[in-house]
Amino acid sequence: MPTHELILLKNMSTPGYTGSLADYERAGGYQALRKVLGKIAPADVTEMVKKSGLRGRGGAGFPTGVKWEFLPKDYQGPRYLCCNADESEPGTFKDRQLMERDPHQMLEGIVITCYAIGAEIGYIYIRGEFVLGAQILERALGEARAAGYLGTNILDTGFNLDVWVHRGAGAYICGEETALLESLEGKRGLPRVKPPFPATHGLYNKPTVVNNVETLANLPHILNRGPEWFASIGSPPRSTGTRIFCVSGHVKRPGNYEVPMGITFRELIFDHAGGMRSDKPLKAIIPGGASAAFFTDQHLEVKLDFESVAQAGSMLGSGGVTVMEEGTSMVWAALRLMEFFYHESCGKCTPCREGSSWLVQTLRRIMAKRGRHEDLDTLTELCKNIVGRTICAFGDAEVAPILSTLQYWRHEYEELIEAAEAAELITPEPALARH
Ligand code: SF4
Repeated sequence: MPTHELILLKNMSTPGYTGSLADYERAGGYQALRKVLGKIAPADVTEMVKKSGLRGRGGAGFPTGVKWEFLPKDYQGPRYLCCNADESEPGTFKDRQLMERDPHQMLEGIVITCYAIGAEIGYIYIRGEFVLGAQILERALGEARAAGYLGTNILDTGFNLDVWVHRGAGAYICGEETALLESLEGKRGLPRVKPPFPATHGLYNKPTVVNNVETLANLPHILNRGPEWFASIGSPPRSTGTRIFCVSGHVKRPGNYEVPMGITFRELIFDHAGGMRSDKPLKAIIPGGASAAFFTDQHLEVKLDFESVAQAGSMLGSGGVTVMEEGTSMVWAALRLMEFFYHESCGKCTPCREGSSWLVQTLRRIMAKRGRHEDLDTLTELCKNIVGRTICAFGDAEVAPILSTLQYWRHEYEELIEAAEAAELITPEPALARH
């Protein structure tokens, strides 16, 4: 097992660490806040974060400091920070661990961010199913308030902030930042048409920053140890720092692994996650959550950084790495993912709402050995008619598993269709039911 310094998972890897305020302070917690509040100007904090090269860990990978800078400087009214803790991407489970095992790390990052952007109210929008996480965060917020890290006149600096936990109701789309804001306002969680962007018209139409849990958890370390230190880790200059990859599927040791960005898929899967669970070779990798295009065993030397994964035709996304062994049906895998997307499409725009239904029906027909050769063209055409024609990125995401499995494993689709033709099983397909 290669050794490297853990940053985000370090505290919770220490025996006996409970995530309480006392434990966090003993481990050096809230020192960054003491260093920053009232001592470094908010604009300089933003500059430090820009210099560190930190990019969002939620999926899009947008530079964090640049995002903060988009807020209008001369706006006098309220502005908000929303922590996106709605971790719902299949195969992704790192934010949950960060919140449940070391909540103050993220809270310190939230206070630093609010100071930098001038927000006096922050919200943590947490996935509804994370009941334990919400309870732990409420307890941690109570500890932080009692210790003077939240509330009025924090650390005698004149800075005021309070943070509230808001539990979602179980919709995947509420992880999309504008749907999250709608939901937080008490409306149905539907993505907004952009522009305008949240930086100017966010929560309650006010300037708003939405940052992911892991992104925020990095901030105390950047402010404590300096942006140059952070920028030297990983694959500078575009993919700096560590990343927590959630490895699942057919590996010996599934789990969360914090590694410097830029190691290869082979190192992550075989050195960290113990390799394949049986003697079957690796067949497929989902490199960045269910929205990312599949990779094959030919991609094992690709580096886990934003640019390398994009150049190879997929995306680093949310950090969910799902590994599949030889023998897995890739048509089945595409169908399972498509059923998820079909279920979670919010229905606001036609290509996604109707297209996801047609894609599922076609895939089910092929999987049930009632497919026709023209179905493959239909699948491709349907996908093309969704990409770039929807309100949010969900549309592009939902077609990635189909297009990539057609690209690498088209023969598996053809074999199922040929089996159908051979058996002359041309019977009506079952009616499609939404779950
Ligand atoms: Fe909703 Fe899908 Fe349109 Fe996004 S792309 S707004 S999820 S219907």
